[in-house]
Amino acid sequence: LTDRLSNAFKHLKSKGKLSETDIDGTIREIRRALLDADVALEVVRSFTARVRERALGTEVSQALNPAQQVVKIVDEELTDVLGAGVDRPLNFAKNPPTIIMLAGLQGAGKTTLAGKLGYWLKDSGHTPLLVAADLQRPNAVTQLQVVGERAGVPVYAPEKGVQSDGGDDVTVPGLTTGDPVKVARDSIALAKQKLYDTVIIDTAGRLGVDEELMQQARDIRDAVQPNEILFVIDAMIGQDAVKTAKAFDEGVDFTGVVLSKLDGDARGGAALSVASVTGKPILFASTGEGFKDFEVFHPDRMASRILDMGDIMTLIEQAQKQFDEAEARKAAEKISDGSFGLDDFLDQLQQVRKLGSMKSLLGMIPGMAAHRKELEMFDEREVDRTEAIIHSMTPAERRNPKIIDGSRRARIAYGSGTTVSQVNALLQRFEQAAKMMKRMSNKVGGGMPGFGGP
Ligand code: GDP
Ligand code: MG
Repeated sequence: LTDRLSNAFKHLKSKGKLSETDIDGTIREIRRALLDADVALEVVRSFTARVRERALGTEVSQALNPAQQVVKIVDEELTDVLGAGVDRPLNFAKNPPTIIMLAGLQGAGKTTLAGKLGYWLKDSGHTPLLVAADLQRPNAVTQLQVVGERAGVPVYAPEKGVQSDGGDDVTVPGLTTGDPVKVARDSIALAKQKLYDTVIIDTAGRLGVDEELMQQARDIRDAVQPNEILFVIDAMIGQDAVKTAKAFDEGVDFTGVVLSKLDGDARGGAALSVASVTGKPILFASTGEGFKDFEVFHPDRMASRILDMGDIMTLIEQAQKQFDEAEARKAAEKISDGSFGLDDFLDQLQQVRKLGSMKSLLGMIPGMAAHRKELEMFDEREVDRTEAIIHSMTPAERRNPKIIDGSRRARIAYGSGTTVSQVNALLQRFEQAAKMMKRMSNKVGGGMPGFGGP
């Protein structure tokens, strides 16, 4: 049998390394997908170059065709870049207060984020204080106060200058001359005195990168020495992401990134752009205007989102399917050979189980709606039960289920905490599966269909 199996895979094994033609066809598609996701051009170039290099050194797989292999490399590489340092939690100070400073362009979502972070920290047992150090726009202080009130987090604001102006953009005399550095410094003193353990400093931004404001941000930074400087960037920003991220990286040397407005249409290309040009970790994602629309960043989800172009997802799905097909073929060989037993069935089940762990991941990708139903139908408990039953069988029973008579069934049911009828159902299903795979074994056998190439 072993000989026959290895013969079956021999022609696949002897292919050697992936070829340039194989790789370049797929890379072209990936390139299009990344540009569609609004990844900055220079990032697309360096990223695909890296994937190409890695793919060129890769051995041809037994289970995947070249296009699928390249897609797999892309997916891994993407998750790597996006995930650099992501497992690191927020950097808390040894001696409170922990100081978190927010930086970014105007409209990026800093003030909104201050409320979200404040709420999130409070919810996990901290005592945060929000600080209004954006004295550039007349309304900014009031906006932070509203945000703080909604999130139930106190706000420190400069004493004079803010008048109730009904929410309109009215220039309040004296406000723009207020000193944000002093506000920030005073807020730390207050936090120490009143025992706030985290201080979140909201700062001003401009529509474009601006040296005067960058200097102001640096002055605030140098005055309070933050534990974290979070660069907030709008996920919709697209091609400008690189320029902006570089400017803030050089300007304030931020320690982490927050991606905002991920609830919109943006495919999140900015995430890849920022992560690859700065190498800084993306810590959080902001997903709406409410103070609860906020989550820890997940690189794997982001990778799927960026690649969620119909074609590419299909490639990955087919890769998955074909892998299963290769497994099925192996099983089929065993069936025609009469040696397929319940142990092999268990292996198959565990293949299926992989689907279960993908359930939550796939479920959240917008384009996957059509598959959501199938995923819902997958019942983890059923698989648990089946596994328990098979585990209660002796090796001889697993190899040759025909010997499982009534008293053996009762013993197995007892041992696995199931009922005799559940054991019967499993044995029946096994028999059907074996028959089905026997049919498949006659169909599969030609080459695997290729796709995605030029
Ligand atoms: P700042 O200038 O950086 O302080 O930005 P703001 O916090 O004032 O946000 C600018 C606008 O974007 C406001 O209208 C916010 O409600 C909105 N906004 C902020 N974060 C998000 C988000 O994650 N999703 C959506 N849809 N809107 C957001
Ligand atoms: Mg603001």
